[in-house]
Amino acid sequence: LLSLQGATVRFGGRAVLDAVDLGVAEHEIVCVLGPSGSGKSTLLRAVAGLQPLDSGRIRLDGHDQAGVPAHKRGVGLMFQDHQLFPQRDVGGNVAFGLRMHGASRTEQSERVRELLGLVGLPGAAGRAVAALSGGEQQRVALARALAPSPRLLMLDEPLGQLDRSLRERLVVELRELFGRLGTTVLAVTHDQGEAFALADRVVVMRDGRIAQSGTPLEVWQRPADAFVARFLGFEN
Ligand code: ATP
Ligand code: MG
Repeated sequence: LLSLQGATVRFGGRAVLDAVDLGVAEHEIVCVLGPSGSGKSTLLRAVAGLQPLDSGRIRLDGHDQAGVPAHKRGVGLMFQDHQLFPQRDVGGNVAFGLRMHGASRTEQSERVRELLGLVGLPGAAGRAVAALSGGEQQRVALARALAPSPRLLMLDEPLGQLDRSLRERLVVELRELFGRLGTTVLAVTHDQGEAFALADRVVVMRDGRIAQSGTPLEVWQRPADAFVARFLGFEN
C-alpha cells in the first residue's frame, strides 16, 4: 500500500529523514518507535503531503505522490497534539472531513453516530469539546481521523496525553477496532509497551534512519544493535 524509497528531508543542512526505505502492506499495523527528535513526526508529515521530500520517493498503491496535495492522498493523520476545533461540538469535529468530501447532512450525522459508537463515545455528538476529558478528546480526534475512511490511517502519539492505565486499555481497544475495520495503520509512539501491544511490525528510528524493523517479538528478542537494545531498556 505504502512504500518509501530513499525518503530524505533536510532542515538547515541536517537530514532529519535520512534515506528512509519503508513499506506498509494493506491491513498492516506498523508502529514507529524512537527517541524525541529522531524524525517520527516528519516521516508521517511527509507521507501525508505536509512536508515535501528533498529526495527519494513516496508511493501509495504504486503511485508516486510527488506533487500530490495532502487532501488528494486519501490518508488520515491524527496529530501529536490532536488539534480539535474548540469552537465546534464533538459532532462538528468528527464531521469535519466528511463535509470536505461533500457528504450530505444526513450522511454526516449517520456516520458521526457510527464513529462515536466505534470509539466508545455513543451519544456524545452534541457535547462541547472543552468539557471532555483528555482521553475523550483523543477518542474524538481518532473518530475524526477515521471519518473519511482513509486507505492509510496515521497516528502521531495517539495516546500521548493519557495516563498509563487508560493507555493500556485503549491500546487493546484500538487493535481490536483496526482489526475489525481492516484499517492500515502507521502509528508513532515513544512508548515501547504501546508499540508492542498495537503493532504487527515495529520500526525503530534513530537520527532520521531506521535502526531496525521487525515483528515485536523479533525486535524484543534480537535487537539489531546496542542503540535499539538500550532504547528497549536492556542494560548492555
Ligand atoms: P518527538 O518524539 O519529540 O515528537 P520526533 O521524532 O517526532 O520527536 P520530528 O518532529 O520529526 O521528531 O523532528 C525531527 C527533527 O527535525 C528535530 O530535531 C526537529 O527539531 C527538526 N524539525 C522538525 N520540523 C522542523 C522544521 N519545520 N524546521 C526545522 N527543524 C525541524
Ligand atoms: Mg513527533
